[in-house]
Amino acid sequence: MSRFLSSLYASLEEYVPGEQPQDKKYVKLNTNESPFPPSPGVIAAVTDEEVRKLCLYSDPESKALKQKLAESYSLKSENVFVANGSDDILNFAFMAFARENGAVFPDISYGFYPVFADLYNVDAKIIPLEEDFSIDYKKYLSSGRMVVIANPNAPTGKVIAKSEIEEIIKTNSDNIVLIDEAYVDFGAESVTDLVDKYDNLLVVGTFSKSRSMAGARLGFAFANTEIIKDLEKIKYSTNPYNINRLTQLMGVKALEEQEYYDKNCAIIAENREFTVSELEKIGFTVIPSKANFIFAKHSSLSGEKIYLKLKEKGVLIRHFTAERIKDHNRITIGTKEQMMILIEKLIEIIGEEEK
Ligand code: PMP
Repeated sequence: MSRFLSSLYASLEEYVPGEQPQDKKYVKLNTNESPFPPSPGVIAAVTDEEVRKLCLYSDPESKALKQKLAESYSLKSENVFVANGSDDILNFAFMAFARENGAVFPDISYGFYPVFADLYNVDAKIIPLEEDFSIDYKKYLSSGRMVVIANPNAPTGKVIAKSEIEEIIKTNSDNIVLIDEAYVDFGAESVTDLVDKYDNLLVVGTFSKSRSMAGARLGFAFANTEIIKDLEKIKYSTNPYNINRLTQLMGVKALEEQEYYDKNCAIIAENREFTVSELEKIGFTVIPSKANFIFAKHSSLSGEKIYLKLKEKGVLIRHFTAERIKDHNRITIGTKEQMMILIEKLIEIIGEEEK
């Protein structure tokens, strides 16, 4: 730490992203990326001509992209916000909507929520998940705080019913209810259509998962126009050109080729069910997931051992050290071939350990 850092941040514990090792080629199942490339139109969009235009700033209003998102989700452009990854939007939401009343979220969820709370000195109420890792919606009713829930939740993959989310929204009418739908396309039900009905709902999405664009950094949010204006105010007070030209262009193309992504999501869901049944055969308990990852625990080997041994064998998964989940690992669902390698390596590891 330099002697110049504000004392406000001296004790900040930053978010630790999943490993992105560059040393060798891994079967990479640790950061919930898509194993598929972006759709053909997205790849073709990056022409020499577009690259030459990088000398000009991007459209700060992201007009074409917002319009396309609005069209795709049956909303109006005024209900759409876009940013440099959905992390940016979560950041803005904690900055803008939680300082006075605080925030509430589950103990086991996206690890960035407590970091943002800490960053803005937001009083965070943390509610433990139930024994089976589900969210009891009743514990979030009339909370008096900004409610933040990922649906499906990460790293568990468990979903919360739309009717239950609606109850949370209704009983927290004086606070924002932020539903993080980063993984919704893999089998959960979106609450986007409730945006017209409730003025306190903020739905956050991303192109990083189902739309294969994690490296392009593109997140979006849907809400009532007044909430969108608030987010725009923060954006114009921090980084007006927050989305680069190529990403804006690729985002539009991706939405034009939605069928390609729908097909990929169906393949991932199929591979997920295959992986679950194979893992169960070799002693794993897997939490029912509607995301592009699963959360699994072995009957005899520790989570850390499995993670380390798999890494040695060239397969990366995500291990967490928090006491409650240290024997679970989060495994991203990739191609069938990748999942077969994972199973093969796990069988080897179990065999070696049982000797
Ligand atoms: N929300 C959840 C629940 C996530 O797991 C992630 C990915 N780490 C994000 C948001 C952020 O995704 P991105 O910034 O790539 O849009």
